Amino acid sequence: MKRQNVRRALILIMFILLPVIFLYFSPAIPFFGAMEGIVSGSMVVFSVLLVASLFWGRAFCGWLCPVGGMQECCTSASNKNTKGGKLNLIKYFIWVPWLTSILILAVLAGGFKRIDFTYCTTGGISLLNTQAYIVYYVCLSIVLILALAGGKRAFCHYVCWAAPFMVLGSKLKSRMKYPSLKLSADREKCTDCGLCNKKCPMSINVKEMIKRDPVEDSECILCGECIDSCPKKVIKYSL
Ligand code: SF4
Ligand code: SF4
Repeated sequence: MKRQNVRRALILIMFILLPVIFLYFSPAIPFFGAMEGIVSGSMVVFSVLLVASLFWGRAFCGWLCPVGGMQECCTSASNKNTKGGKLNLIKYFIWVPWLTSILILAVLAGGFKRIDFTYCTTGGISLLNTQAYIVYYVCLSIVLILALAGGKRAFCHYVCWAAPFMVLGSKLKSRMKYPSLKLSADREKCTDCGLCNKKCPMSINVKEMIKRDPVEDSECILCGECIDSCPKKVIKYSL
């Protein structure tokens, strides 16, 4: 349980820091930057997440994402599972046109000419005026409503524009088969108790997932809840 306490503490700290780092996850600022040929802070962050996912998969979502942390806090109010399935594709219908538009704007501006990490922030801080706070609370309210109405981490499943970068990296690392962080399972020891399913913050059918080889799911955020809740120690991290 110690590991899960560390994980929860990390995502809670990131959530507390969100007023400072909010704009570094913005889907809007890359548009303004692309129009001026500037790579903004959030584009840098998304690129780093893509590269990191080639080794860690979606571990950022499980261990460091501030919005993920906020949604996990909501599970004490509503612990229902997200439907998932084909609905998970919604985020790709958001991501593809979003990224394509940014690239088109950059081409029209003559390409990216420079990187400005703190672009559109005041001294690198995201929220320093009333208008920014209004946008911030509207965004948090949408995430909150989705988590309460749609189920655990519904925003991650259906909306998040950062997730597809990491799904892409995870798929690549899985195909290329070099050492990277993943799950493995000793299936014989499983008693089908279902505790892992109950604990999974991404509503994955872990019991079924461990029967597959490799043990993976594009929605798995490598949080380790299933590892730490399993009484038979069936699941573990491996490289
Ligand atoms: S399958 Fe396990 S590691 Fe993956 S999201 Fe669910 S609980 Fe976390
Ligand atoms: S918690 Fe462990 S024993 Fe129980 S169903 Fe999951 S993997 Fe099997």
